[in-house]
Amino acid sequence: MEPGPVQIVSITEDHKFILDEKKLKEILYHHKAREKKVALVSIAGDFRKGKSFLLDFFLRYLRAKDAKDWMGKENEPLRGFDWRGGAARHTTGMIMWSEPFLMSMPDGEEVAVLLMDTQGTFDSNSTVFVNAFIFALTLLVSSVTVYNIMHNLQEDNLQHLSFFAEYGVLAIDAYQTSPFQQLTFLIRDWQFEYETPYGFAGGETVLSERLIIRPNQHHDLELVRSRLRQCFRKVNCFLMPHPGLKVTNRRDFDGKLEDIEQDFKDQLDKFVPDLFRSDNVNFVKEINGEQITSTQLFEYFRTYCAIFAS
Ligand code: GDP
Ligand code: MG
Repeated sequence: MEPGPVQIVSITEDHKFILDEKKLKEILYHHKAREKKVALVSIAGDFRKGKSFLLDFFLRYLRAKDAKDWMGKENEPLRGFDWRGGAARHTTGMIMWSEPFLMSMPDGEEVAVLLMDTQGTFDSNSTVFVNAFIFALTLLVSSVTVYNIMHNLQEDNLQHLSFFAEYGVLAIDAYQTSPFQQLTFLIRDWQFEYETPYGFAGGETVLSERLIIRPNQHHDLELVRSRLRQCFRKVNCFLMPHPGLKVTNRRDFDGKLEDIEQDFKDQLDKFVPDLFRSDNVNFVKEINGEQITSTQLFEYFRTYCAIFAS
């Protein structure tokens, strides 16, 4: 069977979430992954902000034989996770790529790398609960979570995140320090390049401005900041340029590189390889300080879902 996106968690109309254990098991017990250590890279954030589009570049990177030309041919449509889907149709829940990728760590050990797309809801009745659940579960099961944000890092992004993280921490009742590994804020369509440059360096500037705890700050804001620092072992941020008007305005845009602005591609070439660096100590998923295997991740997935369902 051709590899492809597989919905593993779905949300019913009455706001119940359903884990498709059979499908998840097929992925996590895949012959390539079984008994290997696992890294799960996920992306979360609002609907229609280029998350799935970006994931398709992750796929290209992981498939590439030659790391230099990983981005592919100029005239090749971008396929994989469904990234347009039309304005109306979108799937709420969690979607995993059916096939693990193998990556060698610096010590030669092979690790199974999995990708996960997530989609919250816009339905105002269920937004808070459903989105908190999806985000919290994402943080719990992933080693690296990309939080995709448009334009700038706002106070409400931090508040939501802190709430989701708090919700996630409840599930792992042992209140360990840094229960989560890496959180990467990805700011799309960054407009102030003349002040703060694209990439991780600019991202660090934005992050430190936003996360600084000021002497006269309101207590709530202070709490959000200290919780974030406590919850994650590593927090970083990347500023991404606008991909160009062909990407956002042309109906027939199908993801060809030739239609994407060079600035965007240049930054993509910095962001993606960094996200999959094998020397990143937070890359392999850990639970209680121990690196876990793909089949162990399956058990944790089930356990966390059961906790949220109860
Ligand atoms: P998702 O709902 O977050 O997964 O969004 P999609 O990946 O489906 O993309 C939604 C639309 O945003 C598509 O038409 C993309 O062409 C477009 N898009 C992709 N990347 C970007 C970006 O960096 N900025 C903007 N403004 N649009 C983008
Ligand atoms: Mg999507």
